[in-house]
Amino acid sequence: MRMLIMGAPGAGKGTQAGAIAEHYGIPAISTGDMFRTNIKNGTELGQKVKSIMDAGDLVPDELTDAIVADRLNQDDAADGFLLDGYPRNMHQVQSLDEYLTEHGQALDAVVSLDVDPQLLTERLLKRAQIEGRSDDNEETIRTRLGVYREETFPLIEHYGDAIISIEDERFY
Ligand code: ADP
Repeated sequence: MRMLIMGAPGAGKGTQAGAIAEHYGIPAISTGDMFRTNIKNGTELGQKVKSIMDAGDLVPDELTDAIVADRLNQDDAADGFLLDGYPRNMHQVQSLDEYLTEHGQALDAVVSLDVDPQLLTERLLKRAQIEGRSDDNEETIRTRLGVYREETFPLIEHYGDAIISIEDERFY
């Protein structure tokens, strides 16, 4: 099973990704988590991406595409994976498509988590208190939601019929 999970910041991608990946016995690969680990460990990549993430902007595609390709090349991802938070713009979609084609692979599913936008900020502010993520403050949240709307949301149309849409029950 090769799949993607998409959704705005605060939609609960990480939580759902963990459960789905466990169900299929595949690794959940979160670009956000990989960047945060690099920041925590003080790597060169971490130093490059810290201020970008703290501002709520997207990390440059060449850095992001490279860490994803490295991760997908590891043994545990050979038979399947769940990408959480990647791709996030059309350039990353193309890069992933190229990777999959080169490796004779294809996606089986794309899951989209749809949550009432008004709930997102509320949830992110709550998460800030619990997890203390440095990008969960009001100004950065506004930027991240804007980036999602402009750059990531259009991917839902791109993936079209492949999309499995899951609506948050609190939407209604
Ligand atoms: P959220 O969806 O709540 O924003 P993530 O952990 O997915 O949380 O992402 C946190 C930050 O990591 C993003 O705001 C961005 O700076 C960076 N990031 C994560 N994934 C990508 C990606 N695919 N491309 C560029 N930047 C990314």
